[in-house]
Amino acid sequence: MKKLNNPIYVTQPSLPELEEFIPYLQQIWNNKILTNNGPFHQQLEKELAEFLGVPFISLFANGTLALVTALQALRITGEVITTPYSFVATTHSLWWNNIKPLFVDIEPEFGNIDPEKIEAAITPKTTAILPVHVYGNPCKIERIQEIADIYGLKVIYDAAHCFGVNYKNQGICNFGDLSILSFHATKVFNTMEGGAIVCHDEATKKRIDYLKNFGFAGETSVMAPGINSKMNEMQAALGLVQLKHYQENITKRKAIVDSYREKLANIQGITMLPLPESTDSNHSYFPIFVDEIAYGMGRDQLYEKLKQNNIFARRYFYPLISEFPMYKGLDSANTANLPVAEKLANQVICLPLYPQLSIGHIANISDIINNAK
Ligand SMILES: *Cc1c(COP(=O)(O)O)cnc(C)c1O
Repeated sequence: MKKLNNPIYVTQPSLPELEEFIPYLQQIWNNKILTNNGPFHQQLEKELAEFLGVPFISLFANGTLALVTALQALRITGEVITTPYSFVATTHSLWWNNIKPLFVDIEPEFGNIDPEKIEAAITPKTTAILPVHVYGNPCKIERIQEIADIYGLKVIYDAAHCFGVNYKNQGICNFGDLSILSFHATKVFNTMEGGAIVCHDEATKKRIDYLKNFGFAGETSVMAPGINSKMNEMQAALGLVQLKHYQENITKRKAIVDSYREKLANIQGITMLPLPESTDSNHSYFPIFVDEIAYGMGRDQLYEKLKQNNIFARRYFYPLISEFPMYKGLDSANTANLPVAEKLANQVICLPLYPQLSIGHIANISDIINNAK
């Protein structure tokens, strides 16, 4: 097999042509409004609410600060049920709010939190559930809501992978009490760094907007020790341009995913996720799972093999969040509590996936996986 000349990474950020962005920069330089809910910020909030089919959205400097603020907006305290199979920021947002995470195992089909394991984890101190729609595939939303309603818990979705996903013909961020999005460089829609909270009513939106601006509720009134997590005008302007190209990027992603699915369909010991029901996907990630015995080679060996061929895939999500030193000591971090998450974390590789990836590269990557042993 021919080694690729240029390295292929798991993702490559999408950017519009620079010429398309310049007039927006010109406008910022002309009007001297750089931040604090400027015209581009307002316009992006309006366009995104429409595009995502949600009533209210509040833009943030990044997704992590949106998560931290979402918990504060709903006054979440005590203990929160969450998943260990995610990016570390999910649990860090609890730590920053002095909330104890309760890790619950995931279901094997999509790798999302297993609703049937939630009730057993609830304690008198539990106030909320923080699930993640991993890889952009919807959690078992109805069942999670049912449990939350019975126990009087709030539901905040980490929807960082879910930009543009529709579930049952609705924007997925309409579910739960709040959803947070990330517009980080590596996500399907980026503002270089950026994020948002989606909420359902104007009062909550107002509270979130205060909290992301030091808690200012007026020129001289401060309602809480808020943080500074506002999106600036350059980020918002970039978002407006990126949004124009979103659909063409998703179409390209779909073609790549279809091609991977076809080429990797019949390799013993390699499995892919099923297609989620009633979902318009954003094709944000392409994870495969390596069964060491059936495939004849372990996940890490295949990962190294890809690297030797200049293909830099990533093991999302490995290690589990519950394995990191600051969380490992928690009772719920015990691996006996998280067997499915352990298994997926030890088998997963996310293959390169971005709109500019060529069909030739996909063939090359698939050949390596086919012939690695
Ligand atoms: C990217 C990501 C975040 C953090 O978003 P940032 O914008 O990078 O701060 C949080 N949760 C998940 C699941 C993510 O993938």
